[in-house]
Amino acid sequence: MLRQIAEGVLVHESEFVQSNAVVVQGRAGVLLIDPGVTGSELDCLANDLRELGQPVVAGFSTHPDWDHLLWHARLGEAPRYGTARCAATVRDQLSDADAKARVAAHLEETEIAGQVPLDLLGLITGLPAETAQIPWDGPGVRIIEHQAHAPGHAALLIEERGVLVAGDMLSDVLVPMLDLDGTADPIEDYLAALRLLEGVAGDVDAVVPGHGSVGGSDQLQARIDQDRAYVRALRDGRDPGDPRIGPSAKPGWEWVSHVHTGQLQRLAQRSERDEAPR
Ligand SMILES: [Zn+2]
Repeated sequence: MLRQIAEGVLVHESEFVQSNAVVVQGRAGVLLIDPGVTGSELDCLANDLRELGQPVVAGFSTHPDWDHLLWHARLGEAPRYGTARCAATVRDQLSDADAKARVAAHLEETEIAGQVPLDLLGLITGLPAETAQIPWDGPGVRIIEHQAHAPGHAALLIEERGVLVAGDMLSDVLVPMLDLDGTADPIEDYLAALRLLEGVAGDVDAVVPGHGSVGGSDQLQARIDQDRAYVRALRDGRDPGDPRIGPSAKPGWEWVSHVHTGQLQRLAQRSERDEAPR
């Protein structure tokens, strides 16, 4: 079911880790950002759009993780964009014959095993580096690319509607998940990305995270502050005291504590490696 969060901007929330698909109404059809996860949800979204009489005229994937790269034949054949770096990363990931089997195997361990259509996974057209806006016939959508969470990660600012689509950042339920493989300094890069998002906060009335609840403008600053505090605590080796992990985690989201512990271990390994004599 689509829920309107601003004029001409609707959100479809998945039951799987509260994934948000975002629909932006344009003149001749909609822009669809991170379409969703299971086949039945994508089907439901296609039904909703048909009822609205709105074909999909463009797609966008905020980053190269499987849950943001899906598509359904019923959504049509519009170009599906991503940043150049996102598209290159996807091409790389899917270049070997076993890539989809690996995603399917990963999904076997989740409650949505067998429910995710992988046929059209990752068919992303990279926009040239430094592209400022999504090329489509609708409200201006600014691309805010940065180094955080995944290579070529981009937030989108739907300027005239005051909506920030944050990709996998600024969640009320998930702690920042650093891109520990993709960048030389994942901590400083993440902090820089948060500054970039903070720089547009004054223009934002609603923030949509890739996973979690849609927030208002007050929530945006609170989430930036919360994510920054978490990342700084990681950097300084302090307990983040973050409400999204430990006993205060939202029911069903206890696994986020494991994400946190995993990040601590990876960071410790990195600093050991950096300190080792070469
Ligand atoms: Zn995600």
